[in-house]
Amino acid sequence: TMQSMNLLTIPTIKKTSYDAFISQTASSIMLRRGMTSLGKTQGKLVILGSGWAGFKLLKDIDTRHYEVIVVSPRNYFVFTPLLASSSVGTLEFRCVVEPVRRYSPKIQYYQAYADSVDIKKQTIHCTSNLNNKKDKFTIQYDTLVVAVGANSNTFGIPGVGDYALFLKDISDARKIRQRVIECFELASQPNVTKEEIPGLLHFAVVGGGPTGVEFSAELHDFITQDMARLYPDLINLVTMTVYDVAPQILGSFDQSLRDYAIKKFTRKGIQIRTGTLVEAVNERHLVIKDNGNVSYGMLVWATGLTDNPLTRAMGEYIIKDQSAKRLLTDNYFRVLSKDDGMPVNNVYAIGDCASIKDYDLPATAQVANQKAMHLRKSLTRIAKDGGSFENVKPFKFTNLGSMVYIGEQKAMVDLTSTNVKAKERGTLAWIFWRSSYFTMTISLRNKILIPMYWILTWFFGRDVSKF
Ligand code: FAD
Repeated sequence: TMQSMNLLTIPTIKKTSYDAFISQTASSIMLRRGMTSLGKTQGKLVILGSGWAGFKLLKDIDTRHYEVIVVSPRNYFVFTPLLASSSVGTLEFRCVVEPVRRYSPKIQYYQAYADSVDIKKQTIHCTSNLNNKKDKFTIQYDTLVVAVGANSNTFGIPGVGDYALFLKDISDARKIRQRVIECFELASQPNVTKEEIPGLLHFAVVGGGPTGVEFSAELHDFITQDMARLYPDLINLVTMTVYDVAPQILGSFDQSLRDYAIKKFTRKGIQIRTGTLVEAVNERHLVIKDNGNVSYGMLVWATGLTDNPLTRAMGEYIIKDQSAKRLLTDNYFRVLSKDDGMPVNNVYAIGDCASIKDYDLPATAQVANQKAMHLRKSLTRIAKDGGSFENVKPFKFTNLGSMVYIGEQKAMVDLTSTNVKAKERGTLAWIFWRSSYFTMTISLRNKILIPMYWILTWFFGRDVSKF
């Protein structure tokens, strides 16, 4: 999907292992001497969320100054730009996740949702994501970073929440992979009627942004490269459609690149239905405005974002009212108090759940990553200056362009924000796309796994077992 060229600094694995070694040795010395690792100069830094913003911050924060506590319902980070690949088996799920615990004992982690924040008492009320989500607990903070992201937006369209699949997390990617295979198996059953098969083999994607387009491209590769070989009698009955209410797909890309993507999709037989409103969804059909019912076998919903429940619960701060309500911050990421509009010193918000006042930025990993990097520097500066905010610099976003995979080893790279001529499409762009992601991958383990799966897929195809 759309992303930056260098979202991340190139990871230094040696440094991480070295840090882990030093930190473990230090902790064991302290414990032997009867000291604890607590009592750092800046006290407790609580990070809510382990996505692009939260994980990038916890990974690099200076734990000599802060006692870091992470609260997130999932104990891993998802490398979202490669999630679509994993949803069709080009990559295995393991390749796109990084465990939060990799950084323990430098950081403390609780697998839980933050439900609300009490600003006066500096406490966070949490609900465990284990044990049937029954257990509640409260934790204290000195500095708080809210990085809970945003949820998928169904725009209140009836049936979407019940019948559509989303693409936000590993569990979503797993459901998609299972459903694609299930549709082909259902269409192969002895008592399925001829009339039912085209509906079962209609793969619908709602959302013509980078996520919807990239997912459609990956799905088309999977169907034509693997399923066609295994289900030769069914392949001519397969249809794919991308729906969008907007007049064009890939609205954020340069016009010539957009036209190129449309041409490629049309040539592949992927139908593009722009200016089309899906009004409702039931178990078998999409209800299209002015066009009646269309049957589908699998529906993937990739239309945008809505607010996270925690953002909604933080009413003491200013919430920016847009389709996904966000916490409004200054350009140091301090959230703004509703009482007087003033920034609050020890509460920050970054990533998709936050918006900088008078500085509109897209909800992307590129932005979340740059914000996390900047906040890490700011927090280190504050610690070095003994808690003073004086030398902290405001954030300035550097637009590094966007890329999108469009299938059959072709991609598009759009750097026109830096130079009008800086755009590339086709196979060269695809090589650039893959190399960039490879460079951005965080752990050595995934640096080995990702190319390995690319090669395995190339030689043996994708796995089509459903489990
Ligand atoms: P997230 O990454 O969504 O993380 C939010 C975290 O908060 C999660 O760990 C979640 O479990 C946790 N959380 C949720 N609720 C709570 C709670 N109550 N308490 C505590 N924790 C909570 N952007 C690009 O720039 N380039 C790309 O190529 C790209 N590709 C994408 C592909 C896909 C399929 C998707 C879905 C998105 C893509 N994006 C891309 C967008 C990018 O992933 C998001 O902008 C980015 O993840 C935002 O980071 P975040 O940390 O704010 O939120």
